[in-house]
Amino acid sequence: MMLRPWTFTLALMLGFASALAAQSVPEPTDLATLDLTVRHRVRTVYFAPSDRPFPPGIRERLDTWIRLTRQFYRDEMDYWGYRNEDGRGKTFVIDQAPDGMWDVVFMVGEHDAAHYQSFENPGDPWAVGGECLGEILSRLPAVFHNDNVTLYFFDTFEVEGESIRYTCNGGSGAPWEGEGAGYVLQGTHFLGAGFQTVALRPADQAEIFMQTESSGIREIRWDSQTLLLTRGEFASTYFGVPVHEIGHAFYLDHVFTDTDGDGVENNVMGNGFRRFGGRFGMPGPDEHPTILSPENAAELDTAIMFNQEDPFDISAVGSHYLWR
Ligand SMILES: [Zn+2]
Repeated sequence: MMLRPWTFTLALMLGFASALAAQSVPEPTDLATLDLTVRHRVRTVYFAPSDRPFPPGIRERLDTWIRLTRQFYRDEMDYWGYRNEDGRGKTFVIDQAPDGMWDVVFMVGEHDAAHYQSFENPGDPWAVGGECLGEILSRLPAVFHNDNVTLYFFDTFEVEGESIRYTCNGGSGAPWEGEGAGYVLQGTHFLGAGFQTVALRPADQAEIFMQTESSGIREIRWDSQTLLLTRGEFASTYFGVPVHEIGHAFYLDHVFTDTDGDGVENNVMGNGFRRFGGRFGMPGPDEHPTILSPENAAELDTAIMFNQEDPFDISAVGSHYLWR
């Protein structure tokens, strides 16, 4: 879903060596210590209600997700011939912590989950997330997100029957926050619902897409059928959701054309984000894995966020990508 930047007013409102064993529980970030000099980077905030502890390993899983997302855009830009001075596919640069991982701001909400959930409104799919975002924005200095793309993850969802409630996902450019600025508002349901959809290390992501047990959640899967998803199908769909939303944060529009003329629309900015597991060999989606359309690639070639000097080598080495 796309949030339209001109009408959206929610504002009102190195390594992996230790990651295997590391499933650390993060401490809340001291907001007085934020680096406010960061520009043209992809930053992030993880927001949890006061009665929801940060999950063990959450920092590692978010790092896996952003690395593989970064690698996806790099590989696709390379495929379409858009390369940087080093001859590598263009991609975005993350705000990196001194230990090399994505620098996540961990924030504990001022209220419990029930408080944020109480804002649920059938006429406004953004109401619960918007309430969280409103608090995040009121507690962070504006310069934190100025000239950056910022992902705001919020943990208020509940599984109810075969559905997920009290959550949402969306992304948009945010030109009022400066050059190239954008944001994603993403519920943490993409990380799984009683099971994991994002691995602790990129190298372990492929096996998650192969899980055949039922997720218990009924959703639209990779082939557009609405079914009870396997855990692998849930992972494929929801790993891809924020990869799609961050595309909007980079100012990409939807593309629903059948790029390769094979009868399947598999663009990340169309319905193809659900096929993300196909890039890792997941049966079914692997026949038409998620791609970036040439229209979107041409847009990113001139995007300021895709033309930054990259001081880090944070490629997703060791992943089981199927290259195309
Ligand atoms: Zn969209």
